[in-house]
Amino acid sequence: MELLADNYRKVTTELESAASKAGRGPEEIRLIAVTKSASLEDIKQAAELGITDFGANRVQEEADKVKGLPGVNWHFIGHLQRNKVKYIMPVYSTVQSLDRLSLAKEMQRWAEKSGREITVLVQVNISGEESKFGLRPEEVGPFLEQAAGFDRLKIKGLMAMAPFVDDPEEARPYFRRLRELRDKNAIRGLELPELSMGMTNDFAVAVEEGATMVRIGGALFGRK
Ligand SMILES: *Cc1c(COP(=O)(O)O)cnc(C)c1O
Repeated sequence: MELLADNYRKVTTELESAASKAGRGPEEIRLIAVTKSASLEDIKQAAELGITDFGANRVQEEADKVKGLPGVNWHFIGHLQRNKVKYIMPVYSTVQSLDRLSLAKEMQRWAEKSGREITVLVQVNISGEESKFGLRPEEVGPFLEQAAGFDRLKIKGLMAMAPFVDDPEEARPYFRRLRELRDKNAIRGLELPELSMGMTNDFAVAVEEGATMVRIGGALFGRK
């Protein structure tokens, strides 16, 4: 608990100083605690410390944690298969990894069925790495136009991962590119206020470049 509290304090301090450096308020950035290296006990403690948003990247492996910690916002941040949408829909507030129309269609279908709406972010492969999921930047505009037809999906912004680099400064151009892509695609009626970018190694730079959500695992829960 003390270690987690300590980590949380460090992350918050770094977040605040990055925000202030960019002339932004700390309340503009939401911390998403990524749970892949955390136990249910860890995340309960994180909630007690005041963390309200949690991110999971696997449906089955994380199901017990999601079930074990209701009353917080759960964000799905991993690659989502269509046949898993039915498990996501009742418990997650947000899916950050929408990256294809077939998935949007399936989410719309289940949202209608369960009489709810779901917040989504569109995942962009901003680095162009083969190993990463997400739309290519030039696909984002046309995708948004089509996805706007799915009335149960509240499209709020974009999500991306920078390539893994030693020096976080090297990630800056990718974050900037995501912000510019958002600005370019903020079409009528679709404001795209959210930019989910930045992880343990590079979140300060991401905040300087306009992140509204940072997804942090290791810096909070340690690496496993
Ligand atoms: C694991 C993961 C994170 C958090 O990574 P850390 O380096 O542990 O902070 C963020 N986003 C996604 C999509 C992840 O899978």
